[in-house]
Amino acid sequence: MFDAASFYLHSGLPRQGPGSDASTSKALGLLPPLPPQPFVLDLGCGPGKHTLVLARRLRTRVVAIDIHQPFLDQLAQAARAAGLATAVETRCLSMDALDYAEESVDLIWCEGAVYFLGVGRALRLWRPLLRPGGVVTFTEATWLTPQPPAPAADWWRTVYPAITTVEENLATARREGYQVLDTFALPSQDWWTEYYTPLRARMAALRPQGSAWPELAQAIEETEQEIRLYEEFGDSYGYVFYILRRPGLGLRLVDEAGTPPQGGG
Ligand code: SAH
Repeated sequence: MFDAASFYLHSGLPRQGPGSDASTSKALGLLPPLPPQPFVLDLGCGPGKHTLVLARRLRTRVVAIDIHQPFLDQLAQAARAAGLATAVETRCLSMDALDYAEESVDLIWCEGAVYFLGVGRALRLWRPLLRPGGVVTFTEATWLTPQPPAPAADWWRTVYPAITTVEENLATARREGYQVLDTFALPSQDWWTEYYTPLRARMAALRPQGSAWPELAQAIEETEQEIRLYEEFGDSYGYVFYILRRPGLGLRLVDEAGTPPQGGG
């Protein structure tokens, strides 16, 4: 999703990664109570289907942040159409250059975009922004089996070698000073209904243009391979929702064995 051909292939789609309103709502249902009118950042929001769910369900203002302005325009238009124009603010900004005050954010949301920073780096950068007790929720491509089949392992080694298991991501989260609240894997239909199915339809429509635009033809071919891999080996990997909390006042970090740390807290 970096060059002009890839952006063109991916433009106008409902989502830019696996997900669904149902899964966003499910994750929201697993959050601890938030303060009234929480301050929420939605990072790497893309066209922001989930942003609308957040704004509606939390009845609060959500700042939706992405570095690709056309996605932000698509989201702003969708927010207007949904009567949520005042609830959704869009900002063209990198999620590793956030300029919010320390301990000012109640909830950081990030669907399908953490991999641009890597889980450890993202959690390290974002923690100071969260108020104590604040929550970070993200989805991340994750191995769902300890022994992934070779074709899936080979493909992921090329596109995202940092992919790992739930356990390893949670170990990273704890190391970065978070408490783990919950995780769940997105159902397989979250890959199809609003992502691969519309993407495949767009690929079919754009294929004729590929004869005059080799980069587009290549982007279509690579995406088709990606989708076929998921069709065949999608049991071995998936997107997982991670719900973590920056420990609050009076809350002590508990290590993996469940033992509270010694000394101060
Ligand atoms: N959350 C959306 C989009 C996921 S695709 C959805 O689920 O539909 C990943 C998004 O991250 C893209 O919109 C891309 O433009 C954005 N992105 C990539 N690097 C970024 C960065 N450094 N800061 C903010 N957004 C970034």
